[in-house]
Amino acid sequence: MVANASELIVARPEGLYCPAGDFYIDPWRPVDRAVITHGHSDHARWGHAHYLAHTHSAGTLRQRLGAHIALQTLDYGEVIEHHGVRLSLHPAGHVLGSAQVRLEHGGRVWVASGDYKTEADGTCAPFEPVRCDTFITESTFGLPVYRWPAQAVLFADINAWWRRNASEGRASVLLCYAFGKAQRLLHGVDASIGPIVVHGAVEPLNAVYRAAGVALPPTHRATELDKAALQRALVIAPLSAQGTPWMKRFGADAVDAFASGWMLVRGNRRRRGVDQGFVMSDHADWPGLMSAIKATGAEHIRVTHGSVPVLVRWLTEQGLDAQAFETEYGDDDVADAAEPAPPPAPTAVRPEPVEGLAATGLRQAQPEQGGGSSTQAQGHGSESRELAKGGDTP
Ligand SMILES: [Zn+2]
Ligand SMILES: [Zn+2]
Repeated sequence: MVANASELIVARPEGLYCPAGDFYIDPWRPVDRAVITHGHSDHARWGHAHYLAHTHSAGTLRQRLGAHIALQTLDYGEVIEHHGVRLSLHPAGHVLGSAQVRLEHGGRVWVASGDYKTEADGTCAPFEPVRCDTFITESTFGLPVYRWPAQAVLFADINAWWRRNASEGRASVLLCYAFGKAQRLLHGVDASIGPIVVHGAVEPLNAVYRAAGVALPPTHRATELDKAALQRALVIAPLSAQGTPWMKRFGADAVDAFASGWMLVRGNRRRRGVDQGFVMSDHADWPGLMSAIKATGAEHIRVTHGSVPVLVRWLTEQGLDAQAFETEYGDDDVADAAEPAPPPAPTAVRPEPVEGLAATGLRQAQPEQGGGSSTQAQGHGSESRELAKGGDTP
């Protein structure tokens, strides 16, 4: 893409680039200066000389990328100026520390939102719309069929499922993304039902949330509980734990479930080989995307990762100047979550990013467009497509 002098942010092979300020936002190739919207591995990558992120992202970034990265942090609303560009971070409501990046230069305001969710969940600062001329939005769930159940409904369902399993003496294994989703589940469940066991990939992230002041119930390692306690337990684990020896200790009659926005699509639960699916996402659903875009007042929209052509066409029909931005961000609602990955040794050659989810066999159903608002599974149950590109498997 050729840089236009009026563009505050352009798409470059390395990532989203601000020519006036000479820095990148969530670049996927190593650069000198990187502004990081949040700590998910496809947005916060290895190898940048300087990192700038929200204060609450420091814990996850240092855990994933190494303690010694050159990291400057900002609080929400704090303004810095770099090469005449005024930069500030604003809550994105996605995971702890997630931020929209507001840039102001020459009388123009652009906002790059990274990943965002409009419903507050109690584990991170809720999304705040920021007025701007140009808004860069994700589109992970950018189809009208995607509408999430209200958080209270979701947790009533999860608690009822856990309570029923516990009363039958069966462990409840809840598979989910280890950073963000796991802590949201811990924060939202009724911890009086039974003990809570977490996988080793989840607990270090719990520690980061607790250090930031987010209330999470007590959590245990599986080895800390006896058999009777395990049979009443809720077990929070990444999808990568499925079928591992670690899982065997919960017994053959343990019940499992997967929490993801993709559980809205019929066929995905079966494809995942789990007993139950809970529709839960850290991304905006279709109404959330619509309300967020509208609240910015922006006339120019740039759409990244997800259902890009659909959202671009829809916004264009609404009279907005909408265009696609080519990016290499993944899908953290489905990607496996054996985080944190070990940081490379300082002298090591930087590993190439994983090209696509196809190699891992992860598949995603193609939902129907224009569907209703039910929380029931919808779409073509038997049709699926490989994720085309950009899936990072942390
Ligand atoms: Zn994310
Ligand atoms: Zn993303």
